[in-house]
Amino acid sequence: MVSLTALIDNGKCYELIRQHRWPEGVCCTRCGSVHIIKRGKDDTQHERQRYFCKTCEHHFDDLSDSVFAGRHQPLRVWVGCLYLMGLNLSSAQIAHELDVHENDVHKMTSALRQAVVEKKPEVELSGEVEFDEVYVTAGHKGQPEAVKKKAVKGVGANSKGFGGGVRSKRKNRRSLG
Ligand SMILES: [Zn+2]
Repeated sequence: MVSLTALIDNGKCYELIRQHRWPEGVCCTRCGSVHIIKRGKDDTQHERQRYFCKTCEHHFDDLSDSVFAGRHQPLRVWVGCLYLMGLNLSSAQIAHELDVHENDVHKMTSALRQAVVEKKPEVELSGEVEFDEVYVTAGHKGQPEAVKKKAVKGVGANSKGFGGGVRSKRKNRRSLG
Protein backbone atom coordinates (compact mmCIF):
# COMPACT_ATOMS: atom_id res chain seq x y z
CA MET A 1 0.00 0.00 0.00
CA VAL A 2 1.19 3.50 -0.82
CA SER A 3 1.40 5.84 2.13
CA LEU A 4 -0.20 9.23 1.65
CA THR A 5 2.96 11.08 2.65
CA ALA A 6 4.88 9.41 -0.16
CA LEU A 7 2.59 11.33 -2.52
CA ILE A 8 3.07 14.70 -0.88
CA ASP A 9 5.86 16.85 -2.27
CA ASN A 10 8.05 18.18 0.54
CA GLY A 11 9.17 21.12 -1.62
CA LYS A 12 5.56 22.18 -2.17
CA CYS A 13 5.01 22.04 1.59
CA TYR A 14 7.89 24.46 2.15
CA GLU A 15 6.45 26.75 -0.51
CA LEU A 16 3.12 26.62 1.28
CA ILE A 17 4.74 27.57 4.58
CA ARG A 18 6.62 30.48 2.98
CA GLN A 19 3.47 31.80 1.33
CA HIS A 20 1.55 31.68 4.59
CA ARG A 21 4.30 33.08 6.77
CA TRP A 22 5.50 35.80 4.49
CA PRO A 23 2.86 36.68 1.89
CA GLU A 24 4.59 40.04 1.34
CA GLY A 25 8.07 38.53 1.15
CA VAL A 26 10.40 37.06 3.74
CA CYS A 27 11.06 39.17 6.82
CA CYS A 28 13.25 38.59 9.84
CA THR A 29 11.74 36.40 12.56
CA ARG A 30 13.56 38.46 15.18
CA CYS A 31 13.41 42.11 14.14
CA GLY A 32 10.90 42.06 11.27
CA SER A 33 13.33 43.62 8.79
CA VAL A 34 12.80 42.90 5.10
CA HIS A 35 16.51 43.24 4.33
CA ILE A 36 17.02 39.53 4.01
CA ILE A 37 19.41 37.49 1.93
CA LYS A 38 19.19 33.78 1.20
CA ARG A 39 21.90 31.71 2.78
CA GLY A 40 21.75 28.28 1.17
CA LYS A 41 19.58 25.32 2.04
CA ASP A 42 19.33 23.15 5.11
CA ASP A 43 21.87 20.31 5.17
CA THR A 44 19.37 17.52 5.67
CA GLN A 45 16.17 19.00 4.24
CA HIS A 46 17.16 20.42 0.91
CA GLU A 47 13.93 22.30 0.26
CA ARG A 48 14.32 24.25 3.47
CA GLN A 49 15.65 27.73 2.71
CA ARG A 50 18.00 29.48 5.12
CA TYR A 51 18.12 33.26 5.51
CA PHE A 52 20.29 35.96 6.98
CA CYS A 53 18.98 39.29 8.25
CA LYS A 54 21.21 42.18 7.22
CA THR A 55 19.67 44.43 9.86
CA CYS A 56 20.20 42.37 13.01
CA GLU A 57 22.47 39.61 11.64
CA HIS A 58 20.00 36.91 12.68
CA HIS A 59 20.12 33.52 10.98
CA PHE A 60 16.82 31.77 10.44
CA ASP A 61 15.05 29.47 7.99
CA ASP A 62 11.59 28.62 6.67
CA LEU A 63 10.57 26.87 9.87
CA SER A 64 12.36 28.94 12.54
CA ASP A 65 10.09 29.92 15.44
CA SER A 66 7.19 27.98 13.98
CA VAL A 67 5.42 24.89 15.28
CA PHE A 68 7.30 22.88 12.64
CA ALA A 69 10.77 23.81 13.87
CA GLY A 70 12.96 21.14 15.43
CA ARG A 71 10.66 18.27 14.58
CA HIS A 72 11.61 14.74 13.85
CA GLN A 73 8.97 14.09 11.18
CA PRO A 74 9.47 15.67 7.75
CA LEU A 75 7.31 18.67 6.92
CA ARG A 76 5.14 16.71 4.50
CA VAL A 77 3.99 14.46 7.36
CA TRP A 78 2.98 17.54 9.36
CA VAL A 79 1.16 19.07 6.42
CA GLY A 80 -0.55 15.73 5.78
CA CYS A 81 -1.55 15.59 9.43
CA LEU A 82 -2.95 19.12 9.30
CA TYR A 83 -4.93 18.23 6.19
CA LEU A 84 -6.40 15.09 7.73
CA MET A 85 -7.25 16.95 10.95
CA GLY A 86 -9.26 19.29 8.76
CA LEU A 87 -11.22 16.28 7.52
CA ASN A 88 -12.00 15.40 11.14
CA LEU A 89 -10.21 12.08 11.09
CA SER A 90 -9.43 10.40 14.38
CA SER A 91 -5.86 10.00 15.58
CA ALA A 92 -6.02 6.31 14.72
CA GLN A 93 -7.15 7.07 11.18
CA ILE A 94 -4.49 9.75 10.73
CA ALA A 95 -1.84 7.36 12.04
CA HIS A 96 -2.98 4.78 9.52
CA GLU A 97 -3.06 7.19 6.58
CA LEU A 98 0.33 8.73 7.37
CA ASP A 99 1.91 5.46 8.39
CA VAL A 100 3.00 7.04 11.67
CA HIS A 101 2.64 5.69 15.20
CA GLU A 102 -0.53 6.84 16.92
CA ASN A 103 1.45 8.30 19.84
CA ASP A 104 3.29 10.50 17.37
CA VAL A 105 0.00 11.61 15.85
CA HIS A 106 -1.24 12.60 19.31
CA LYS A 107 1.86 14.72 19.84
CA MET A 108 1.52 16.30 16.41
CA THR A 109 -2.17 17.12 16.67
CA SER A 110 -1.81 18.65 20.12
CA ALA A 111 1.19 20.72 19.00
CA LEU A 112 -0.77 21.95 15.98
CA ARG A 113 -3.86 22.79 18.04
CA GLN A 114 -1.71 24.62 20.57
CA ALA A 115 -0.06 26.59 17.77
CA VAL A 116 -3.42 27.64 16.40
CA VAL A 117 -4.49 28.87 19.84
CA GLU A 118 -1.27 30.84 20.30
CA LYS A 119 -1.57 32.33 16.84
CA LYS A 120 -4.87 34.04 17.61
CA PRO A 121 -4.21 37.75 17.85
CA GLU A 122 -4.59 39.25 21.26
CA VAL A 123 -7.58 41.50 21.49
CA GLU A 124 -6.90 44.97 22.71
CA LEU A 125 -9.78 46.59 24.54
CA SER A 126 -10.11 50.30 25.03
CA GLY A 127 -12.80 52.78 25.91
CA GLU A 128 -16.22 51.43 26.79
CA VAL A 129 -16.59 47.74 26.07
CA GLU A 130 -19.96 46.03 25.89
CA PHE A 131 -20.31 42.29 25.99
CA ASP A 132 -23.02 39.69 26.17
CA GLU A 133 -23.08 36.70 28.44
CA VAL A 134 -20.80 33.95 27.34
CA TYR A 135 -20.84 30.35 28.43
CA VAL A 136 -17.90 28.11 27.80
CA THR A 137 -18.18 24.40 28.26
CA ALA A 138 -15.12 22.49 29.34
CA GLY A 139 -14.29 19.76 26.90
CA HIS A 140 -15.33 21.76 23.86
CA LYS A 141 -12.23 23.88 23.65
CA GLY A 142 -11.15 24.01 20.06
CA GLN A 143 -14.39 22.44 18.80
CA PRO A 144 -16.58 25.36 17.76
CA GLU A 145 -18.89 23.08 15.78
CA ALA A 146 -19.72 20.98 18.82
CA VAL A 147 -20.32 24.12 20.85
CA LYS A 148 -22.65 25.50 18.18
CA LYS A 149 -24.69 22.30 18.13
CA LYS A 150 -24.98 22.23 21.89
CA ALA A 151 -25.97 25.87 22.01
CA VAL A 152 -28.84 25.30 19.61
CA LYS A 153 -29.99 22.24 21.55
CA GLY A 154 -29.81 24.17 24.79
CA VAL A 155 -32.27 26.89 23.80
CA GLY A 156 -35.35 26.81 25.98
CA ALA A 157 -34.20 23.87 28.00
CA ASN A 158 -32.90 24.09 31.51
CA SER A 159 -29.50 24.58 30.08
CA LYS A 160 -27.20 25.80 32.74
CA GLY A 161 -23.98 26.47 30.94
CA PHE A 162 -25.42 26.90 27.47
CA GLY A 163 -26.42 30.37 26.64
CA GLY A 164 -27.72 30.08 23.10
CA GLY A 165 -30.84 32.14 22.68
CA VAL A 166 -30.37 34.34 25.72
CA ARG A 167 -27.58 36.30 24.16
CA SER A 168 -29.03 39.76 24.16
CA LYS A 169 -31.39 39.41 27.11
CA ARG A 170 -29.11 41.09 29.52
CA LYS A 171 -26.17 43.21 28.69
CA ASN A 172 -23.32 43.96 30.92
CA ARG A 173 -21.72 47.27 30.52
CA ARG A 174 -18.32 47.71 31.79
CA SER A 175 -15.86 50.45 31.30
CA LEU A 176 -12.33 49.27 30.76
CA GLY A 177 -9.74 51.99 30.89
ZN1 LIG B 1 16.59 40.87 11.91
